[in-house]
Amino acid sequence: MFKKLLIANRGEIALRVLRACKEMNIMTVAIHSTADTDAMHVRLADESVCIGPPQASESYLNIPSIVAACEITGADAVHPGYGFLSENFHFAEILEAHNISFIGPSSKHISLMGDKITAKDTVKKLGIPVVPGSDGDVKNVDEAKKIAKQIGYPILIKAASGGGGRGMKIANNEGEISEAFSMARTEAKAAFSDDTVYIEKYLQKPRHIEIQVFGDSKGNAVYLGERDCSLQRRNQKILEEAPSPIITEEQRRKIGNISAKAISDLKYEGAGTIEFLFENNEFYFIEMNTRLQVEHPVTEMITGLDLVKEQIKIASGEDLSFIQDNIKYKGHAIECRINSENPRTFIPSAGRIESYHPPGGLGIRIDSAVYAGYNIPPYYDSLIGKLIISADSREECLSRLQRALDEFVIEGIETTIPLFRELIQNNDIINGDYDIHWLEKYLSKDA
Ligand code: ADP
Repeated sequence: MFKKLLIANRGEIALRVLRACKEMNIMTVAIHSTADTDAMHVRLADESVCIGPPQASESYLNIPSIVAACEITGADAVHPGYGFLSENFHFAEILEAHNISFIGPSSKHISLMGDKITAKDTVKKLGIPVVPGSDGDVKNVDEAKKIAKQIGYPILIKAASGGGGRGMKIANNEGEISEAFSMARTEAKAAFSDDTVYIEKYLQKPRHIEIQVFGDSKGNAVYLGERDCSLQRRNQKILEEAPSPIITEEQRRKIGNISAKAISDLKYEGAGTIEFLFENNEFYFIEMNTRLQVEHPVTEMITGLDLVKEQIKIASGEDLSFIQDNIKYKGHAIECRINSENPRTFIPSAGRIESYHPPGGLGIRIDSAVYAGYNIPPYYDSLIGKLIISADSREECLSRLQRALDEFVIEGIETTIPLFRELIQNNDIINGDYDIHWLEKYLSKDA
């Protein structure tokens, strides 16, 4: 097992990893920018290294500084969390070359899934159903029109290197293709320095259902059920639940087995998430994330497993500590992303948290790194915490969530808490009857 692990991240996820390490008796090294000197993960880690100025490009994304921090402190492993360098195959490769373990799959697998076109092609060959669309990249508008004619409108033009919902444009008819195509390309080029795009049929009422998978070096692979992440704004998740209110036991087993078999065939090691859109009782692969997800706690709450510890154990060469038959799901879990944002416009709200009182009691988990008096720096993601509720049933989970939201006090900045308070009064949410476009429609009604 590792002796000292460097956490190449910040915020709640840095703390989440640190907690797993403490329980495993692994020493921790926090890295931080000058904007994060007072951050909780820095205070609680055994050692800390300041690696640069606030801009992420010069700190949390600065590979030479992070490798130097490993060497100075003698860290033998790095956990990248999510975001930042977590899906950067180059980073994994450099660590491999320095004999430092990367807590995640091999650089080869990160690279394979990082290009969405290659990823789609790979999983399709392994028997995973994909969204109908182009075979590979689409080079020009004429080609785009030809494909659109075959699959039918509306279509979605997507960036091969996409992430965070960027570089994605819809065309509802042939007249819209030319503009959507060039906008998707321009946005992709600006965000990912890669203007390769491909085309998918635009599904009109899908749910976002993702399967958590794990694989080890022996080729063992399991799935840990699904997460329903259909409540989204701007193609970004804001509330996630497990199990999905609309997936049957049989559907879960079927897509789970197909996913786990693909992971085993790929010889994929570590945690991964296979993301699907689900419409008319069919699953359609959209992408695979080769890292821990923000919403991993809902899976932990219904399986009782610690996914971060499992990631660390697998990266140290241990076999998976469970087999498929041992995985049992209990009750229901819902996660709300608490963002420092205006709850209507989602414009970020940085500044000082004047008072902070998190809810407590049975079935309530808070993964957060903020505290009263903490100053939210304006440089990073607006996620400041996650409220995770678990209960025996979905119904009980919702009433517990309502109670928790009523107790939650964060003053000094704007947060998404008032939006959640409103949403859980809504019948569609109560009945679990919402698709990925539901929230946008709901918000535009009173805009
Ligand atoms: P990213 O990596 O940018 O997050 P994804 O491919 O995972 O991109 O898609 C993000 C979100 O965009 C999905 O959860 C869904 O809401 C929407 N989306 C993606 N592909 C489609 C599609 N073919 N039809 C409808 N919506 C889609």
